Amino acid sequence: MKIAFFSTKSYDKEFFETYQDQQEIHFKYFSASLSIDTVALARGYDGVCVFVNDKLEEETLQQLAAVGVKLIVLRCAGFNNVNIEAAEKLNMKVYRVPAYSPQAVAEHALALILTLNRKTHKAYNRVRDGNFSLERLQGFNLQHKTIGVIGTGKIGASFCKIMQGFTDSILAYDKYENETVKAMGVKYVDLEYLLENSDIISLHCPLTPETKYLIDATSLQNLKNGCMLINTSRGALIHTGDAIEALKEGKLGYLGIDVYEQEEHLFFRDLSENIIQDDQIARLISFPNVLITSHQGFLTKEALQEIAKVTFQNILDFQAGKETENRVVSN
Ligand code: NAD
Repeated sequence: MKIAFFSTKSYDKEFFETYQDQQEIHFKYFSASLSIDTVALARGYDGVCVFVNDKLEEETLQQLAAVGVKLIVLRCAGFNNVNIEAAEKLNMKVYRVPAYSPQAVAEHALALILTLNRKTHKAYNRVRDGNFSLERLQGFNLQHKTIGVIGTGKIGASFCKIMQGFTDSILAYDKYENETVKAMGVKYVDLEYLLENSDIISLHCPLTPETKYLIDATSLQNLKNGCMLINTSRGALIHTGDAIEALKEGKLGYLGIDVYEQEEHLFFRDLSENIIQDDQIARLISFPNVLITSHQGFLTKEALQEIAKVTFQNILDFQAGKETENRVVSN
């Protein structure tokens, strides 16, 4: 089988090369992301291997089907970038990697919290500049603070476990309560209560029509003054314009994001010599209490190894016509 591999980065190749040419699976790496403009690259391939910011809308899928592509393997868990119904109509099968390393993302959420709080990024730069002043580096103890976790699936549960090392006050909100999380002593509450009572809120639910702009002007007004909001899930869970207003007012005390609503135009690229056209990210970057990483929650050795291993297995399962739980189907 020939697989066109889109949005290739050096770290993808490093881990996928182990599987190159094994069991007659051949990868061709393209640095371009997959969209309507690049779909022609997939001509002559049986499948495409894509990541979070490759856009597989109906028209792109139709063109993929027209050039003979039958398989879409996602190197990620989220699949909001693929029109699943359209893929099904075109007889294309979609697979994902549902749990390559929940710990990787949960630990990154903690990294955002600790950096924003203890300002280690600022201290690092200061000291390199010969500035040993402590002015404006004050943080707060996480001990006894209330942490609100929205979405307690694999990553949310892992995050709860980590945060129990800091505090015994963890609130959770999910459509479905996770018994393991409950048994850990985490208290499930309604969304409003969580928003009103948490010192730090971390988002771990998927992006769906229901969760889009879960954090908007109304929910932001419900927050405790100075609350820290962390998003390692998907950008559009937060209404960026409303978050900027809440930061300007001081209602939102800190914002740590690994994902951004318009990230497909920015993330995973070196744009340091370009003029950034996105005024919202430019405004966010200007706040001293905002920390942005460009979707690197997954970027650990363990997670990359698992992504390559499971993706390769997904291709073999597709070939063998096996129905597995990694197959994404519409509801
Ligand atoms: P999961 O499916 O195990 O858990 C998601 C949880 O969200 C479930 O418990 C579900 O019931 C809950 N949920 C769904 N709709 C909800 C709603 N309307 N309100 C409240 N809760 C709701 O998924 P996971 O593996 O924990 O991943 C969570 C998200 O993390 C993914 O959807 C993906 O967007 C994101 N992610 C980010 C990175 C990264 O690198 N930053 C990497 C992997 C995953």
